[in-house]
Amino acid sequence: GPSRAEVIALRKQYVSPGVITYYKEPLMIVEGKMQYVWDETGRRYLDAFAGIVTVSVGHCHPKVLEKVQAQSGKLQHTTTIYLNPVLGQFAEKLASKMPDGLTRSYFTNSGSEANEVAILSAREHTGNTDVIALRNAYHGGTSTTMGLTAHGTWKFKSNQTLGIHHTHAGYCYRCPYGLEYPSCDLKCARDIEEVIRYQTPGEVACFIGEPIQGVGGAVTPPKEYFQIIYEIVRKYGGLCYADEVQGGFGRTGEHYWSHQHWGVKPDGITMAKGIGNGIPLGAFTTTEEISKVMNNRIHFNTFGGNPVSMTQGLATLEVIDEEGIQENARVVGGHMKDSLLALQEKHPIIGEVRGLGLMLGVELVRDRKTKEPANTEAAAVMERMKDRGVLLGKGGLYGNTLRIKPPMCITKDDSDYLTAMLDEVFTELQK
Ligand code: PMP
Repeated sequence: GPSRAEVIALRKQYVSPGVITYYKEPLMIVEGKMQYVWDETGRRYLDAFAGIVTVSVGHCHPKVLEKVQAQSGKLQHTTTIYLNPVLGQFAEKLASKMPDGLTRSYFTNSGSEANEVAILSAREHTGNTDVIALRNAYHGGTSTTMGLTAHGTWKFKSNQTLGIHHTHAGYCYRCPYGLEYPSCDLKCARDIEEVIRYQTPGEVACFIGEPIQGVGGAVTPPKEYFQIIYEIVRKYGGLCYADEVQGGFGRTGEHYWSHQHWGVKPDGITMAKGIGNGIPLGAFTTTEEISKVMNNRIHFNTFGGNPVSMTQGLATLEVIDEEGIQENARVVGGHMKDSLLALQEKHPIIGEVRGLGLMLGVELVRDRKTKEPANTEAAAVMERMKDRGVLLGKGGLYGNTLRIKPPMCITKDDSDYLTAMLDEVFTELQK
């Protein structure tokens, strides 16, 4: 293949400058196996960001690979205007993992497209336009989903989306009111009623929220937060959706879906990333009743439901079941969180450790009292962790939250290596 220098030169000349890379010296990755990836020099890295939370059961997992290679050799593409053997099987498997009543799936290639279909369905079903999302959210890069995405830096002035509003996330560490849980009485959640009354005609199409925010930096709300939100949204006629693009498929450990931690029952779930273990695949699954909005409608997705993605998705969900992947996420994730909390005792730069299972965030601050975001420090930690063979992610409103979301086959030893290296790096940075 081309050398690293050639790859950089070609990208500089021919690739949109919107395609950005992490790290001062961008990393080139040429191979992946389970929780590890290799660069072109043969150096191995623990991939604790999993291609942005996408490689769920492991890079090139042998069981998944065998099935998808066989399918690729037989038939790569037809559209859904013909029957293909795997589409129904995968939809059935997905329904078997869903909360009761969510049985009907629409397949896409990405999370953005899944969210588009979800919003369209809510608007058609309710006859309302207004949609409410959370501050700090990320829901995609298409026109509507850019509207849902809350970070100002992700928005383009020219892309104006109609009827989209934002309400407070359950982000206690930076409570917008400076209150304390639980004496706050969940004011951040109750605020959605004000948003509905002042910014909509008093009726909404839907609410969409990540049960634990991903790009937003593993923001984990108090347990009643979503119950309050769902109740208010339903009072005004809206559907409630959970965006499980990052948090689904057992990643949060205790439950298969991250919304289940909060005791709510969504009207629809959107998925992507981990569901395909690295192949483009997304889905929106909803109730029989809501799915009827698509009756006799022409809404088409050329690659949605293609046999290669369906095969990969089915094999991935089977491996999650067969190999105890969810349980591993619970055990290793819990172990890792304990280790991170121990680091917090030692390093004042760690403002908060949060998240569940293998969806963890470490928010860095310059001062625990003022909570001044340590964003350049977070970037320095990422660099130094890379030098020690560990790839991390970064996010949050201020770019000061380290995001740890490895393939769910990671071991306790990997976790111990990661936290030992973090310990070293924090010590170094303090000097
Ligand atoms: N929802 C969430 C929660 C996401 O994290 C992302 C991607 N980061 C998306 C939706 C959009 O997914 P995609 O990039 O596959 O369109």
